[in-house]
Amino acid sequence: MLALSAALSTLVGSFYSTYQVQKQQLTDFTLTSNLAYAQKLASTTDKFLESAAQQLAYSAKVIEHATDDLSLLNNEAIRLHQQTNSFNSVVININGTIAATSPRFETIIGKAINSPGAIEALKEKRPLVSQPYMSAAGNLIVFISHPLFDSNGTYLGYIGGSLYLKKKNILNALLEQHYYEQGTYLYVVSADKRILYHPEPSRIGTQIINNTVIDAVLSGKKGKQQLINSENLPMLAGYAPVAMSGWGIIAQRPLKATLSSLDTLTVEVVKRTIPMALLTFIFIGLFAHFIARPLKRLADNANALDNPKSLEKLKSVRSWYFESHQLKMAMQKGVSLLQSQIGQLRHDAQTDPLTGAHNRRSLDNIVTRLILEQTPFAILEIDIDFFKRVNDTFGHDVGDEVLKSLTMIIKSLCRKNDIVARTGGEEFILILPGENEQSAFDIAQRLRATVADTKIHTAGYITVSIGIATWPNYSEDIEQAYKGADKALYQAKETGRNRCCIAK
Ligand code: GH3
Ligand code: MG
Ligand code: MG
Repeated sequence: MLALSAALSTLVGSFYSTYQVQKQQLTDFTLTSNLAYAQKLASTTDKFLESAAQQLAYSAKVIEHATDDLSLLNNEAIRLHQQTNSFNSVVININGTIAATSPRFETIIGKAINSPGAIEALKEKRPLVSQPYMSAAGNLIVFISHPLFDSNGTYLGYIGGSLYLKKKNILNALLEQHYYEQGTYLYVVSADKRILYHPEPSRIGTQIINNTVIDAVLSGKKGKQQLINSENLPMLAGYAPVAMSGWGIIAQRPLKATLSSLDTLTVEVVKRTIPMALLTFIFIGLFAHFIARPLKRLADNANALDNPKSLEKLKSVRSWYFESHQLKMAMQKGVSLLQSQIGQLRHDAQTDPLTGAHNRRSLDNIVTRLILEQTPFAILEIDIDFFKRVNDTFGHDVGDEVLKSLTMIIKSLCRKNDIVARTGGEEFILILPGENEQSAFDIAQRLRATVADTKIHTAGYITVSIGIATWPNYSEDIEQAYKGADKALYQAKETGRNRCCIAK
């Protein structure tokens, strides 16, 4: 889990940082290209205004010397309007009244007009580009004019051209031929913050306030900036001023549109990364599994070291790397030691140290098991005759040797499942599974005879008396069965020793 989560977090982290870097790059790139775009269009617009002013200046030269020649004025107005495409209409004003127009507006010929453009031109007496205003004919216009002077330098009037902002004009023809791909659009504002050009025609003529970009561009600055537009959308804007007219051009693109390509890019990157990542995860999982497996198996075994099979199980653990191998070896060593000690202790707990026969505790366990298994058995209680004399005659050590020799004799006559136990000083109990009274008696007789016939070195010959009882035949109560064997032994002693008696 640790390795997986590390790999996963690295992956997610790299996706995230890639996304952030790409986002920053895209944003910067869009801002920069919008700035370049705005600058380009600002310079184009500047050039257009310059050329419009030059055309007006040229026409002024043509008519200045003969302002009373109405047909000359008319022709020049028509030529300027029709030859150049720069203006939606052309007007010539001489001495405060309209002398000629193109197209021809009969209603205003010979009249004074007091549109803001006209008033400003008459007042300023210099080349001008007006702020946008609503004309008498109901057109939102920008008026470009050039003054007329006679040879003495007396002011005569002006020649001017109008751009109808809401109709097809040279300005929107210039601006519209540029792309509006993927949400990029541009708009132009006049010095009084009115929209001169906008892809949404209804917005032309409206005034924009509280817009930092417009404030910046109208103060003559160019730049780029992220902003929230009037529709509350985050925008990436580049802006540049038009020097001749004091206008501003703003090119902008919604941040969302800019980043949409990034989203598809990121999805694509994730898609292509997933197979490799999955492979890595699988590899990590498998490798972790193989590292953990021997440890897990060793740990499982550590809980059951007393199990006799644990050594075998430990040996089957595939400890393929150094540390697990060392652990396995150490555990094996520990288990062997533990088990040999447990085995020794178990043996000691069950064995009479002098003769190596079972002790009373072991006998009881075995008998209990036989009873549980419902295996019938015979009890032979064996007691050496006049053993005190052996001790008295040859000493206690020889007595001990005799006890050992007797054990050997009894064991040598026993079958595999028979149990020999030393239960008292020189008393033995022999358990014979599956034997009835008669067969047990035969065995007892054989044993008694063998003992009597065997010369035990240093002590010579001894005899034994044997009492016999069977379970469950004599009594189902094991205590009673023992007592029966006891009584039978007593009877054997009473009736002359070196004999076998069956409990009745
Ligand atoms: P009986 O025929 O009636 O059984 O006579 P006995 O002399 O054998 O009498 P009893 O069974 O009462 O005597 C037990 C003797 O066994 C007493 C003790 O001196 C001897 N004895 C008991 N335990 C040991 C032992 O561990 N080693 C030796 N050498 N002698 C023991
Ligand atoms: Mg005795
Ligand atoms: Mg005895």
